[in-house]
Amino acid sequence: MAADKEIIVSEELICITCPLGCHLTVDRQADGSLAVTGNRCPRGVKYANEELLAPRRVVSATAALAGGAACKENRGGLCDVVRLPVRSTAAYPKPGVLELLDAIYALRVELPVQRGDVLIKDFKGSGVDVIATRSLK
Ligand code: SF4
Repeated sequence: MAADKEIIVSEELICITCPLGCHLTVDRQADGSLAVTGNRCPRGVKYANEELLAPRRVVSATAALAGGAACKENRGGLCDVVRLPVRSTAAYPKPGVLELLDAIYALRVELPVQRGDVLIKDFKGSGVDVIATRSLK
């Protein structure tokens, strides 16, 4: 049993769950489990496990407008907006982020659009949507 707890590799991480930013040391053990030290609360263990075993990212990007349209607003020089800022509604598995970005870049958004409008629904059955983060008309 002791052999199962042999450390294969040790990594350093900074927990970004809260502003304290604990410096974590994560030992990957022979049985595949992670031993986390340096955390000041249990959320650090959860963060290290998610980051090293199943990392996810919230995706922010911009989408093209249909027909290369420019926004007709004229507030503070924003009338030249030609792309719509968007983001995912939740963190998406990191290995699939480029595929999600490809789908966002393939969009041609018709105006008007309201902040919060869903532009991509349930991408690849993940439950993650892509929404507009501002209104344009
Ligand atoms: S381990 Fe806990 S206290 Fe430390 S940064 Fe993460 S959430 Fe904050």
